[in-house]
Amino acid sequence: MRLSFSVGVVVAVVALVALLLPRAAAEGLPLGGGSGLVFATAAEGREVVAAEDEFTARMSPFDRQARLKSAGPVSSAEHRAFAARSVLEWGDRDRRAITGAMRGLEARFTEIGVRFPERVLLVKTSGDEEGGAAYTRGTAIMLPAKVLGSATPVLRRLLCHELFHVLSRSRPALRERLYASIGFLPCGDVVLPGDLEDRRITNPDAPLFDHCIRVKVDGVERSMVPVLWSRTATYDAKAGKPFFDSMEFRLLAVRVEGDPPRGVPDVDDAGEPIMIKPEGAAGFFEQVGRNTGYLIHPEEILADNFELLVAADRRPPSPEIVRRLGEILGAGK
Ligand SMILES: [Zn+2]
Repeated sequence: MRLSFSVGVVVAVVALVALLLPRAAAEGLPLGGGSGLVFATAAEGREVVAAEDEFTARMSPFDRQARLKSAGPVSSAEHRAFAARSVLEWGDRDRRAITGAMRGLEARFTEIGVRFPERVLLVKTSGDEEGGAAYTRGTAIMLPAKVLGSATPVLRRLLCHELFHVLSRSRPALRERLYASIGFLPCGDVVLPGDLEDRRITNPDAPLFDHCIRVKVDGVERSMVPVLWSRTATYDAKAGKPFFDSMEFRLLAVRVEGDPPRGVPDVDDAGEPIMIKPEGAAGFFEQVGRNTGYLIHPEEILADNFELLVAADRRPPSPEIVRRLGEILGAGK
């Protein structure tokens, strides 16, 4: 087939323009670099939370029971169906609140040099599925309805925090460099000692206990992994409290062996696991800094520092942590 001259010229011009144009404008609220934050339909949201992933695979029997506030055992399928039922449609007021909170962030992300996945989904939920907390799965951020009424700066910080989790999950090599910048190195996915494994509490933003930090405990150098579990052996469905109420957090001593490295819980002379609070670990705060009290995982320490990096509105107690984070993100453009 031959095109007429004029049609040929139009085709050539269109092709040239397409070549010269930068990457298509971002869908949704722009995050820089052609990435966008997109309001998910309820159907899209249900697909995200009902999916099987590292989080659902790692959940303990306690995890599932506590999410459903159930007195009996809960299967993974039941839990995922429950999570799907918590998804809501976005309203105009919600969209306005998010749009306001995101104002100016595209320029700041571009300045830092951070590159998010092309399409980050925002899912509104009732909050019932995750103790009322905001969290992430895959490249999606789940926001419970109650946080949408927060003041704009609060919502902005929360969005930055959650965006860090999405970024970190989508770039594994960058994640390793970032974790190493605060002293955390891979140590396999540590299984909790004794019956604690059945009542581990799993954080969707960082489902594995898989990075350890070297510190001194009572003068002995050790590898420690931050772990979470429930104080109560079973979920108290009668009281019906959120799982956060019974959550314990400690640094657990592990022996790290093999290649790839694998951490196995270490024991003291009495054969008991060695579990301490961060305050008892000499050298801990020297590595992670003192910019946040949210120390349950290197992922969370860094997400809080990312909030500070983006806001750049105050001098934190450990500015070097924020500076290094900015350097690594900028170098990973
Ligand atoms: Zn977080």
